Amino acid sequence: MSTDQSQSSTHTLALMGGTFDPIHHAHLIIAEEVRTTLALSQIVFVPAGHPPHKAERGSTPIAHRMAMVELAIASNPHFSISRIEVDRPGPSYLVETLRLLHQQWEPHTRISFIIGWDSLEDFPHWYDPSGILSQLDQLIVVRRPGYTTDLDYLQRLEARLPGLHERLLIVEIPQLDISSTNLRQRVASGRTIKYQTPEAVERYIIENGLYRPPS
Ligand code: ATP
Ligand code: MG
Repeated sequence: MSTDQSQSSTHTLALMGGTFDPIHHAHLIIAEEVRTTLALSQIVFVPAGHPPHKAERGSTPIAHRMAMVELAIASNPHFSISRIEVDRPGPSYLVETLRLLHQQWEPHTRISFIIGWDSLEDFPHWYDPSGILSQLDQLIVVRRPGYTTDLDYLQRLEARLPGLHERLLIVEIPQLDISSTNLRQRVASGRTIKYQTPEAVERYIIENGLYRPPS
């Protein structure tokens, strides 16, 4: 990544993890809104190489998913992309990613992780959630259309996971009902995805024949 390693000041980064199959405007708006609201130095997009929870469907080859993220973030100097989960064989466990990044990046780097409400509901089932939390500055939660922001659920979760209460932070973002699943379905059935993802990503999908049903 392109963080200036020579500075000794504290770097505050947030990771935006995801399958990005494909990346869309909700991902980008979340990242920018969180960055500016919390005055973070950078957002690092971390595409999952081998998503542990999405094995059944089988995701688009990582080279395509990476290329689309690169196209989408190109115009934002505060956004970068990490290959850390891509270059590692086996399932992409966040606890391991964080351990490696803390080793790689300079000691003053504070790392947070952005998670949508749907993924938060899944978070207790991720590998070693307590190990993840202990390595995070903040777990930044964003609401998502279609998923009720159940504060009782949050309280139960906080009771189950020590360390969550002190780290959890909800950041308000403009709500956009966009999902990669819907984009894939739209392409497969010949419907438009214009304005749901950057134009360069839309072009990439068309040029590479992604998400089209096998003929
Ligand atoms: P898929 O439908 O394939 O699961 P997705 O749209 O959920 O794709 P992911 O790559 O799975 O995108 O998500 C990456 C992160 O972005 C997750 O934390 C997810 O909760 C969050 N996210 C994605 N879309 C939205 C949205 N529209 N609003 C809020 N959070 C979102
Ligand atoms: Mg998802």
